[in-house]
Parts: sequence; structure tokens; C-alpha cells
Amino acid sequence: MSFVKGLKCRECGREYGVEPIYVCEFCFGPLEAVYDYQGIKKAVSKKKIGNRDENLWRYREFLPVDGEPRVGLHSGFTPLVKAENLSRFLGVKELYIKDDTVVHPTLSFKDRVVAVALTKAKEFGFDTAACASTGNLAHSVSAHGAKAGLNRFIFIPATLEESKIVASLVFEPNLIAVDGNYDDVNRLCSEIANKYRWAFVNINIRPYYAEGSKTIGFEIAEQLGWRAPDNVVVPCASGSLLTKVWKAFKEFKEVGLLKEADTRIFAAQAAGCNPIVTAIKNDTDVIRPVKPETIAKSLAIGNPADGFYAYRAVKDSGGYGEDVTDEEIIEGIKTLARTEGIFAETAGGVTVAVARRLIEQGYIGKEELTVLCITGNGMKTQEALQGRMTEPHYIKPNMESFEEMLKRLE
Ligand SMILES: *Cc1c(COP(=O)(O)O)cnc(C)c1O
Ligand SMILES: [Zn+2]
Repeated sequence: MSFVKGLKCRECGREYGVEPIYVCEFCFGPLEAVYDYQGIKKAVSKKKIGNRDENLWRYREFLPVDGEPRVGLHSGFTPLVKAENLSRFLGVKELYIKDDTVVHPTLSFKDRVVAVALTKAKEFGFDTAACASTGNLAHSVSAHGAKAGLNRFIFIPATLEESKIVASLVFEPNLIAVDGNYDDVNRLCSEIANKYRWAFVNINIRPYYAEGSKTIGFEIAEQLGWRAPDNVVVPCASGSLLTKVWKAFKEFKEVGLLKEADTRIFAAQAAGCNPIVTAIKNDTDVIRPVKPETIAKSLAIGNPADGFYAYRAVKDSGGYGEDVTDEEIIEGIKTLARTEGIFAETAGGVTVAVARRLIEQGYIGKEELTVLCITGNGMKTQEALQGRMTEPHYIKPNMESFEEMLKRLE
């Protein structure tokens, strides 16, 4: 049973069928999936969802697929960790980490979007999956595409972290390292997508891909005991994830699974790539592209496709945004590791550091319930920490050397 009615232009409202298209023919606005919420309301209940397998497909009525899920059966339903140590450190009462550094096969939230995109690509009959990636998407499409039996063309900026390149190559896709930044890669891929009949997950399959991000919001609400948090802090690259977290809470309210959905949405970016946060701070819906220069490579999109909609979601929800320096990002990674035992990638460092600022500035209240979306695992961006950590204690293999070292620690 499928409840997706079709696609709709976010600008002019023109409607389209369920097809592998992503822009409106009339106004070039982006297309978004629309659903029969009356039908969903009748079909779902807290109990029914609660009894299902612990993966992202437990919310399948809210996802734009027709048949059985075929990809990502082990993705999603990541832990919502009550962050008692971190909340004490930051001086707030109730803080949770939505921990997407674990559970997912490729250890980032991208397994959510790829699960939906590749299931849809199979339904459309594509034999080749492709993507333009800042790193995690490459890893995820390479892996899930292997399992799904798809040919894969993966495009990345050549300057990507070595560990992410290795993590993708092991699945033997066609990995194409482009001499340019993400925005160059994306531009090239849009041209390729026009010419070759491939399922570019974040280009022609984007309306379906993007819906996968809602599952992080659904999980947060369910794991909080079917309520929406007061605040959620979301790292932004294209801005898509942020808009979908908000959409998730609204949809749950629409079908009666939540009583209230008044969550304030906060955008987190690196100072070296902050087009969305700059728009929020300047209170303008015109997103000015930037040239990214940051260690947070997974967020390094200078010309964000969903920047305008992310800006709107933040403003309409009563939230705000902050951007942090590379030093603060490193400090954010270390803070999360030290307090909660969670090793996040640079995007997680951005989120923690931004949350800290927002709390200090009073945008996030000390008595409120706040969730931080920690979207990727630190094992994937270890380069960012090189030379910025304490050294191991080197000793000889004897007691004397060990106890000498102990003395030096005093
Ligand atoms: C892709 C990504 C994001 C944000 O993606 P959007 O393009 O804004 O949807 C956040 N964190 C990590 C680790 C990512 O890889
Ligand atoms: Zn339109």
C-alpha cells in the first residue's frame, strides 16, 4: 500500500506523477513528494509502528515507495542518547544526542536517504546508481548499491579525506575524483544526468532521496515517547536534512501521532562554509554562494540546493543559526568524545560547537529539551584531528619505564 500521490513544485504548486524528475518544467522550482495524509492516518498507529523492526522502514507509509523496501534493511533506528554529562557541561537541563554515528552500515545519516533513493531507483527500473558527494554519500551509495546489484558511478571532489576515499573504493564502484570542489562536481553531474539514464540519487532521484531524511525526525519523536523536542540542532550542507526534520514533526502531527510540533529548528554550519547561516543572521532569503574552506568537508556545499527552504524552516519555526571556526569544530568533537564517549566526524563537531554558542547566547533555553543531530562517525575523518591531539605515552616494555611515566603524569 503506497500513500505517495505524486510530486509537486514547491514554487508554483504544479503537480506531477511519480517519476524520476526533480525540477518543475514551468518555473524550474524543485519538486517534492506529496502524500495522502488521510490515508496514512487510517493506516498507522503508535502501536503498529512500535511493533515493527527497528530500522527506518518502520515509517514506510511516510516514504515515497510503492512496493517492498529493497535497500537499507539494516539502516536507521539509531540511539537517542540522554547526554547527561554533556548537558551538565553546557549548563542545560535536558539534552539528547541523536547518534547517527552508529548502527548505519556506512556510519552516517546518508544511509537513510540512500535506502529510499535506491529502493525507488530499483522501482523505476534503473540499473545504474550515481551521485555527487561530499564524502558520506559516496560511501553510502557505493555500499548499498553493491548490495542492491547496481552499477555505480560516484563523483567526489579530488581533495576528499583519504579515509573516505578508501571506504568507498572497497565496494568497487567507478569512483571519479573531480579536480574541483563539490559545487563543480554537482554542476558536472547535472549535465551528465541530462545525458545518461542513470539514477543520480541527489539529482534526478532527489525528491525521493530527500524524504529519507525525515526518518531521523520520526525516530526522535518516537524515542522521546511520541513528543517533539523544544529545539533541534541540525548540521547543514545542502540544507535538505534540516527541512525534512521539520517536515517529519509536522507530518506526525498531521496524522495525529503527535499532539504538538512546535520544535524550533537551528542550523549549524562551519564558518568556512556558511551560506545558510549567513542568510539567517542577515534575515534575508537570498542565499549568497561561498567558496568552501573548512575541515568540515561533509558540509562543504557553497551553493546549497535547499538553502532557501532551510532558511524558511528555521525562520518559520522560530529557530536560529550559528557558524563555528575549525578550532571550535575540533573542540566540539573532543567535547562530545570526552563527555559522552561518542566519536563524531567534523559535522558532529560543528553541531556541538554551534549548540554551545546558541546556549551561551540564550537562543536555546536552559530548561528546554534539546536534541543534537550527530550525523556521522569520526573514524571517517580522522585526518582532521591529526596533529591536534595529545600524544600517546611511549615507554619501554618494563616496569621501571612504566612507573617513570606514571610519575610524570602526577
Ligand atoms: C550530507 C551530510 C549532512 C547534511 O546534508 P544536507 O545536504 O544538508 O541534507 C550532515 N551531516 C553529514 C555527516 C552529512 O554527510
Ligand atoms: Zn513550478
